[in-house]
Amino acid sequence: MAEQKLPTRAEDFAEWYNQLVLRAELADYAPVRGCMIVRPYGWALWENIQQALDRRFKATGHQNVAFPLFIPKHFIEKEKHHVEGFSPELAVVTIGGGEELAEPLIVRPTSETIIGHMWAKWIQSYRDLPVLMNQWNSVVRWELRTRLFLRTLEFYWQEGHTAHATREEAEAETRQMLDIYTDFAVTDAAIPVIPGRKSDSEKFAGADTTYSLEAMMGDRKALQFCTSHFLGQNFSKAFEVRYLDQGGQLQHCWTTSWGLSTRVIGAIIMVHGDDQGLILPPKLAPYQAVIVPIFKSDEEKARVFETAQKLRQKLVAAQIRVKLDERDGLSPGFKFNDWEMRGVPLRIELGPKDVASGNVVLARRDKPGKEGKSNVAQGEVVANVERLLAEIQKSLHDRALAFRKANTREPRNYDEFKQAVETGFAYSFWCGSADCEAKIKEETKATMRCIPLDQPGGKGACIYCGKPAKERGIFGRAY
Ligand SMILES: [Zn+2]
Repeated sequence: MAEQKLPTRAEDFAEWYNQLVLRAELADYAPVRGCMIVRPYGWALWENIQQALDRRFKATGHQNVAFPLFIPKHFIEKEKHHVEGFSPELAVVTIGGGEELAEPLIVRPTSETIIGHMWAKWIQSYRDLPVLMNQWNSVVRWELRTRLFLRTLEFYWQEGHTAHATREEAEAETRQMLDIYTDFAVTDAAIPVIPGRKSDSEKFAGADTTYSLEAMMGDRKALQFCTSHFLGQNFSKAFEVRYLDQGGQLQHCWTTSWGLSTRVIGAIIMVHGDDQGLILPPKLAPYQAVIVPIFKSDEEKARVFETAQKLRQKLVAAQIRVKLDERDGLSPGFKFNDWEMRGVPLRIELGPKDVASGNVVLARRDKPGKEGKSNVAQGEVVANVERLLAEIQKSLHDRALAFRKANTREPRNYDEFKQAVETGFAYSFWCGSADCEAKIKEETKATMRCIPLDQPGGKGACIYCGKPAKERGIFGRAY
């Protein structure tokens, strides 16, 4: 915990990110290249993300399950696009218990195949549908270039899997889950997102349609926040997932899958953080407020601690996640900096003068200096903390939205487009050709992030080839 400053974001955004993840004790590098150890502070943040989502999944009828880590190799090979997409990044187990295995086992990169295999047994009739499942687990994809939270060999996530009797129902589920993720992103993570459809080249291996949420990070690059896939009958045909309809006819199911990972922690860091460190949205922060006692003598310490304990109890009773920093031998200044770096939304300062006057000082993490400080009566601390947490939550979202808007341009020609993707997003008509998309990527390093669901209508000319285009896409350089 050296008092060393982080690099500024303007200086070196990537290094700012790497050092912050380590210094805030969110995660650390594992002994195996590309793997990540999530530390208690990072895991507490992930648990809050899990709870916020799990609540929403259950409210829409989904149940949690646990499927195995290992998948027989031939399962992966059953769906043509799936195997093509995932083969380069599979981890394969060939020896178990000292013996060569008759069939190698894949460490799951995702679970569509093994779930499809079991559904073929479990689903017989239309009465068995829909099947609405989710699992919280970790998966492995052998990535070459890795970054903590953003891309690691093993990462934590949830994968939802559903089976339906009709195409319409499965499509509605795919969109419903995108709406649920949007609500989580905006309401809980305070991250404005653009819901949209992926182009064919960017969609999930085995999906008919992939939807995603795209967000702008603090360095103006894009990050895919999560995905929701309409899988059509691709997996149900590969695994013979069929049901007898009401007329006694055998039909293939329509399936979906959807996922959100620990990558979202990377997004929270990069969207909200500043040069002093993390700024966590109150709804997800492991500690929403931290009480820092200020004292010189032992006598002062006893008085301050007594009041601090009482304040802590009041806040706990009001279900506020609060930490009383009782660490010995560290100055208040050090503690201020430490909790600032770790992104606690609200600091409660309490010294002998405050004890005497019956007040406390509240300091907002998102507004440094005097502007973010207020004096409130100890008797009204709960109401004030609740009010400020709500204000911080909203102000983080509004600030991120204003930033994205300020850095999204509607270029009039390809030259302006090239400039726009150097410094943010370009919102442009695109003819739909994979060729134009590939050339744009090659020439600008920007990819088609998504075709936003919300289209203003009208027609235009493709930003690359000039041919007539009906839809606009968001282009940007991405994580
Ligand atoms: Zn074109």
